[in-house]
Amino acid sequence: MRPSGRHFLQIPGPTNTPDRVLRAMSAPTIDHRGPEFAALTRELLDALKPVFGTTGPVVVYPASGTGAWEAALVNTLSPGDRVLCFETGHFATLWQEMARRLGLRVDLVPGDWRHGVDPDEVAARLRADGAGLVKAVLVVHNETSTGVTSRVAEVRRAIDAAGHPALLLVDTISSLGSIDYRHDEWGVDVTVAGSQKGLMLPPGLSFNAVSDKALRAAETARSVRSFWDWRPVLEANARGLFPYTPATNLLYGLRESLRMLAEEGLSTVYARHLRHAAATRSAVRAWGLEVLCADEREHSASLTAVLMPDGHDADRLRAVILERYDMSLGAGLGRLAGRVFRIGHLGAFNDLMLAGTLAGVQLGLVAAGVPVKGSGIDAALERLQQP
Ligand code: PLP
Repeated sequence: MRPSGRHFLQIPGPTNTPDRVLRAMSAPTIDHRGPEFAALTRELLDALKPVFGTTGPVVVYPASGTGAWEAALVNTLSPGDRVLCFETGHFATLWQEMARRLGLRVDLVPGDWRHGVDPDEVAARLRADGAGLVKAVLVVHNETSTGVTSRVAEVRRAIDAAGHPALLLVDTISSLGSIDYRHDEWGVDVTVAGSQKGLMLPPGLSFNAVSDKALRAAETARSVRSFWDWRPVLEANARGLFPYTPATNLLYGLRESLRMLAEEGLSTVYARHLRHAAATRSAVRAWGLEVLCADEREHSASLTAVLMPDGHDADRLRAVILERYDMSLGAGLGRLAGRVFRIGHLGAFNDLMLAGTLAGVQLGLVAAGVPVKGSGIDAALERLQQP
C-alpha cells in the first residue's frame, strides 16, 4: 500500500530538502566556464565563510563527506606521520581507519561511545609528545552515531596549553549550519563538512575550510593526491572556476540554502536546534528511556540517540514506525546496531515537525510493545511552549 501524505525523513541526515532549495536546483544547468557561473562561484565562496566562522578559503568538492575527510588528510600529512584520534563513535572510527589506510600512524584513544573527546586527555597525550611527532589531532565535532558533541573550543585550549604544534582537523558533517561552530576563533586547521545535513541539500557536496597553517602544511605534505589537491581548486576558484565539471545544480541549491540560513540568522538557527534537542530529551525521559549521551555538556543539538530497554530491538521498532507511520529514523551504527535508534532534528525543521516526529515515535513504541512510562509528547509540548 502506498502511504498518503508526506514521508517523515527524521534520520540525522540526509535531512528534509526545503521546497525553495528543490526549486532552485531545478533551473537549467549553465556553462560552468561562462560569466554567470563565475558570479555564482564567487557568491557561494563568500557566503560559505560565515557558516564556517572563517575569513579563509573554503574548498568545495562534488563528493560525499568521506571525500572531504580524505582531502583533509592527504593535503596536510605525509605517510608515516602520527595522528591522534578518539574513538567517540562510528564516524570517528571510520575516519581513523581511513587515516591508517592512507599510511598514517594512528594513536587511538579508546572511548565508550557515550562521551566526546576529553580535552584533558588531549593535553596529556600532547604533553607526553615532547618531540612533536603527532602531526594532527582528529576530532568529530558531532558524532552522528551517538548524538554526542565534542567541545572543540576546549580541545583547542588543551592543544595550546600543551604548547604543541599539531594541526587540528575537525569533522562538522552533522553540526555545520546546526550547531555553533567557529573555525577561525577555535583555531581549527581543516574543517570537514557535507551538504546533506544542516545545509539542507541533497548529498553530493562536501567542504574543507582551510587555515593558513594548513595551507602551509599542504606545501610540504607528501601524501599522494590529485583530485583532492586544494591548490588547483583554489587557483581555479580565484577565477570563478573549478578545475573539473562542478555539480552546478547542487551549487544552485547551496546558494538558496545559504540565503535561507542568512535570512533566519545563524544564532537563531543554532537556538532553534538547541530548543528542539531539549524538547526531544524531555520526551525520551518521559517515556522512561535513556539518552545515549552521558554528559550534560555534550548533548547534540542536531540529533538524539535513544537506548532501547533490554530485550527490545531498535531495528524492529524502526521497521514498525516506517511501516505504520511512514517515518524513517536513524539506525544504530557499528557496535550500537539494534541497541539505539536516532531521531534527527536538524536542518529545515520546526516545532510542528518535531511534534509529529515524536508522536510517530510514541505511537511506534506502543505498537512495538516497548514499555513506556508516560507521554513523551506531552513533555515535549510543554518544553515547546517555552521559547
Ligand atoms: N562524519 C560524520 C559525522 C557523518 O555523520 C557522516 C555521514 O553521516 C560522515 C562523516 C560520512 O559522510 P558521507 O556519508 O557524506 O560520506
